[in-house]
Amino acid sequence: MDRTTRTMARSKHIALVAHDNCKKDLLRWVAEHKDKLASHELYATGTTGHLLSKETGLPITCLISGPMGGDQQLGALISEGKIDMMIFFWDPLNAVPHDPDVKALLRISAVWNVPVATNRASANFMITSPLLDQEVAIEVPDYDSYLAERIN
Ligand code: PGA
Repeated sequence: MDRTTRTMARSKHIALVAHDNCKKDLLRWVAEHKDKLASHELYATGTTGHLLSKETGLPITCLISGPMGGDQQLGALISEGKIDMMIFFWDPLNAVPHDPDVKALLRISAVWNVPVATNRASANFMITSPLLDQEVAIEVPDYDSYLAERIN
């Protein structure tokens, strides 16, 4: 697949998602990094987003709740190049009803080369990266040439 670049602005669009058993942990992490997160645009699946904004006061664009379609909404935003990074505390110890959506979300993040942190340690690396507040060019699939090859 041909590649092109997409430039992330200095202010990032950051998606926040946590499965039920991980919500407390994400809440604690967001509270710890509230000042840094405040200069970025935050998105979250429904329950996670409402809890986070209630607890921290941060403005968050809340999508539909994950099991009701929120993971798919987020996947669509990723496909459209509207999400720059994702903090996704998914539960490795319990099954969730929307497992196919979880897989799809992780898959589409990989397709579009979106940085994903799936636990506190990786989220800490991400939030302390000097790239967080810089303009960053990332490699992404060249969708125009992909489409042109398929229709010509
Ligand atoms: P929720 O969804 O924030 O609505 O709980 C998270 C998820 O399970 O994807």
